[in-house]
Amino acid sequence: MRYAILADIHSNLAAFQAVLHDIKARGGADQLWCLGDIVGYGPEPHECLELLQGYDHLAVAGNHDWAAIGKIDTRDFNPDAAAAARWTAQQLNAADINYLASLPLTLTTDNFTLAHGSPKDPIWEYLLSSTAARDSFHYFETSSCLVGHSHTPLIFTLNADESRCLAYTLPIDKPLGIEAWRIILNPGGVGQPRDGDPRAAYVLYDSDLRTFHHFRVSYDVKSTQRKMMALNLPSSLSSRLSLGL
Ligand code: ZN
Repeated sequence: MRYAILADIHSNLAAFQAVLHDIKARGGADQLWCLGDIVGYGPEPHECLELLQGYDHLAVAGNHDWAAIGKIDTRDFNPDAAAAARWTAQQLNAADINYLASLPLTLTTDNFTLAHGSPKDPIWEYLLSSTAARDSFHYFETSSCLVGHSHTPLIFTLNADESRCLAYTLPIDKPLGIEAWRIILNPGGVGQPRDGDPRAAYVLYDSDLRTFHHFRVSYDVKSTQRKMMALNLPSSLSSRLSLGL
């Protein structure tokens, strides 16, 4: 089976469509696994929710998904993110709200645990260091965990006697076979990458071969930026898309 691992779509329809097109061009996926923050920041929250629900998929909630439906206070966000979250909340219809409210914080499938931030704190914790990741291995029971939230493609590996946790950047367009005892993987962000590469990021996982394949997809960044400017969304949120930061 082949699974497409996506995180942090962030209402960026052009980026999401480009990733879906790329998945199809590479032979398709049996199911999408979405690691939260479907909405927030970008200009097309409803359209992204509708598009995702047209696919066989699993999804967990992210902090922006919860903020958009009032489950967390936007005062916990920086001012630009809070402004975008308030605008997003006004764009959602009842079905969008029900869908976001139905998303679990974590779920398990095929020996993976899915969470937005981390298995310990799915809404808020960023896993960017091997120290933080090492602690996280105590908080899930499957062999592997998939996370988003940092918008940075990374893999953390733990060896069999659990003495060593290492962090690696995911190589682009090169299948990665995993020998490690346990892993935590972040596919990078679809709708707002933050690793200095503005192209949309995702991972294809082949469960027969147990390989992870990280891809970057160019999309029309300017069209998303034009929509954000026309809607008066904070300019810092649109300008960062050109930089991948
Ligand atoms: Zn995010």
